[in-house]
Amino acid sequence: MRKFKTESKKLLDLMINSIYTNREIFLRELISNASDAVDKLYFRSLTDKDIQLGKDELAIRVSYDKDARTVTVSDSGIGMTKDELDRNLGTIAHSDSLAFKLDNAEAQGDDVDIIGQFGVGFYSAFMVAKSVRVVSRAYGSDEAWAWESDGVEGYSIQEAERAGHGTDIILTLKDDSENDTYDTFLSEYGLKSLIKRYSNYVRYPVQMEVSKSREKPKPEDAGDDYTPEYETYFELDTINSMVPIWKRNKSEVAEEEYNEFYKTDFHDFADPARTFSVHAEGALSYDALLFIPGRAPFDLYSKDFKKGLALYSSNVLIMEKCEELLPDHYNFVRGVVDSQDLTLNISRETLQHNSQLRAIGRKIEKKITSELQKMRDNDREEYEKFFENFGRGLKFGIYTSYGMLKDQLADLLLFYSAKQERLVTLPEYVEAMPEGQKAIYYAAGESIDRLGKLPVVKTVLGKGYDVLLCTQDVDEFCFQSMMTYGPEPELDAEDKPIEGTGPKELKNVASGDLDLASEEEKKEAEEAAKENEALFAAMKDALGDAVTSVAVSSRLTDAPACISAAGPISLEMERIMAQMPD
Ligand code: ADP
Ligand code: MG
Repeated sequence: MRKFKTESKKLLDLMINSIYTNREIFLRELISNASDAVDKLYFRSLTDKDIQLGKDELAIRVSYDKDARTVTVSDSGIGMTKDELDRNLGTIAHSDSLAFKLDNAEAQGDDVDIIGQFGVGFYSAFMVAKSVRVVSRAYGSDEAWAWESDGVEGYSIQEAERAGHGTDIILTLKDDSENDTYDTFLSEYGLKSLIKRYSNYVRYPVQMEVSKSREKPKPEDAGDDYTPEYETYFELDTINSMVPIWKRNKSEVAEEEYNEFYKTDFHDFADPARTFSVHAEGALSYDALLFIPGRAPFDLYSKDFKKGLALYSSNVLIMEKCEELLPDHYNFVRGVVDSQDLTLNISRETLQHNSQLRAIGRKIEKKITSELQKMRDNDREEYEKFFENFGRGLKFGIYTSYGMLKDQLADLLLFYSAKQERLVTLPEYVEAMPEGQKAIYYAAGESIDRLGKLPVVKTVLGKGYDVLLCTQDVDEFCFQSMMTYGPEPELDAEDKPIEGTGPKELKNVASGDLDLASEEEKKEAEEAAKENEALFAAMKDALGDAVTSVAVSSRLTDAPACISAAGPISLEMERIMAQMPD
């Protein structure tokens, strides 16, 4: 049998130019490798008492030189021997880190969290670099070696110098006269924001010399009119926050810390209305930290709004907004999901199996529902505020699912009750229904005020029945897709439904026959219709095509006449649909 030979040049080209959609992830990959190298040495130190690691040796350093166009990532980790440089960086898709992880799977426990697994991350450096130099000295060795490549033909390995164990990855960035994206990597701000975005929760400190400003000391002979002078100086700062807030014990994190995390990471100036978490263990274990914002983002109902949760794997950001983790009706929820068990795609930008995301998403959806129920039951004022912000999305959820989501969402809705003059839930409406009321009544229109004045609303209220006054465009569509609301009917001894129990019809007071009149009233109306037959015919004649018929109604109290819709589409719906774009 013949062995396949790899066309390594083509493979390298593929690796560099086709795997990643985003060039800036090169820094994430190099920092992840540095973290793995420190992790490996740390792991060794756990069993080898001769290895004493200083705090400094755990740090990962990032620096840049604007004139030389270099970006350097250094670690004091396990380092690589000449052979290892050759094997690890000379073979595409060879991952020593994966082998390490598998070898030590049992022993490492929580102390080590190796990120590498595909053996391609390193090559992402060539997306931005025209050449890469790796200077490395393996722990315990006194020789250092330098690996160098332009990412096209091949690489060289030569003797080098390095003070201690560890590795420096030195990238010489491509010149790019057309766009200045590479130049952002040659700035303090650019590198800092990449570290924060992708490597904020890497478990070792990622440090950078940052420029700061301070007041110069006041000279002895300074007079009264002295104005302070400032000078710039450099200081080594740790850029990442390391311990993810969602992995800390909930009881040890102050609410203020959660709020700060929410505001910084999700760019909001208001505190979240609610913070809650999910912790799952088993075949697919993960942590999720979720927030219900305190206000609606201005673009919530625009096409540009993107739902999703941030997805982390082994403390490294995979996706900023993973859509699969949130259903549309909970698109307003923000937060993070972190799991070590995800099977990542080779670029680490997506997952191989979306079924994993769906499983997590389902659990998160349930948790959000129960959190909203808790808020509704325990903190009504806060819930009403929430509903004002995001209630429209819940109603849309019912409407766009053709009522399928009714069981999950209907009890979370609030409507204005004409009778109680406050917001009520559907269970509260049903609970307050007087005996004999068969349906749930609602009216839709522009304002509570105007709806309250409608003759037909007054008639229904006059019967002692409440009317829900709906002012949002989606309300009527939502009710029509639900058709009924309430629990299944109770059964009597013979398994027959007991009258008066069971789901209640949702009835728009403006359309169709409300069936409110008593036998006596019906008779009266019939007589009035007969007596005035000629009058109605004349009215219909005068109005022509503007109406389909003129008839006696039993739904009027003090008003002499009203307009009512004949079909299932109410006048209000007609108005909304006329405003919709084609
Ligand atoms: P992966 O991290 O998925 O294994 P990479 O292409 O990123 O793949 O790296 C390939 C291998 O090179 C790693 O498995 C590791 O053995 C070695 N390596 C890369 N960077 C370093 C480093 N900073 N220190 C020590 N070894 C490294
Ligand atoms: Mg790697």
